[in-house]
Amino acid sequence: MATPVTEPFVIADHPALDMLNTIATRDGVATDFWQSDADVHTWMKRTGLREAPVPRFAKGAVLEAAKALREAVRVLVEQRKAGVYGDPTTLNRFLCEAASHSQLVWEHSAEPRLLRIAERQSPEQWLAPLSERAADLLCHGDFTLVRQCEHSDCTLWFYDRTKSHRRRWCAMALCGNRHKVAEHRKRQYQK
Ligand SMILES: [Zn+2]
Repeated sequence: MATPVTEPFVIADHPALDMLNTIATRDGVATDFWQSDADVHTWMKRTGLREAPVPRFAKGAVLEAAKALREAVRVLVEQRKAGVYGDPTTLNRFLCEAASHSQLVWEHSAEPRLLRIAERQSPEQWLAPLSERAADLLCHGDFTLVRQCEHSDCTLWFYDRTKSHRRRWCAMALCGNRHKVAEHRKRQYQK
C-alpha cells in the first residue's frame, strides 16, 4: 500500500497540468485534493499564481468555479493530446472574465506604481492566471511533451521539460521507483 498523500502533487512543470493533477488516481483510488475554497486558495498560492489576500466570494463559489475550469481544461487537454477538435466555450467564459486594465497609482512622496485592476471581481476573474495559462498551453504547448505518467495505476500529467525528453514518470520517487521494484521482482522470479 502506498502511503496516503495529503497534499496535491505539484510535479507537472505546468500549472494547468498540475491543476488536472489535483485529482490523482493511484492504486485505483481517486483523490480530489480540492474539497473547499481554502484548498483552492492554498493551491493557487503554492503554484505562485495568486498571492494573498483572497477576495471574499460566496462560500463554495471559488471551489465550484475551480472545478468547472479544471474539468473543462481536462477535456480540452485530452482532446488536444488525441489530435481531435475540442469545444472551448467553457474556457472562453473564464477568459472573458479575466478582463483587467492597468492603473497608474501615484501618491505624494511615493514612486508611481502600476496596478492591474480587474474589471469585475468574480471567482472566474480570480482564477484568470490559471485559465490564461491553460489557454496558452493548448495553443503553444508541444503536445508530444505533454504526457501522462507511464505507470498503469497513475493518471498524473506532466510537461516533459527534460533535456532528453525522456521523462516517463510523474516523479521518480513515486512511480519510477514502483516500476524499478516491479522490474527487479520480475527478474528475481525469472532466476
Ligand atoms: Zn505516476
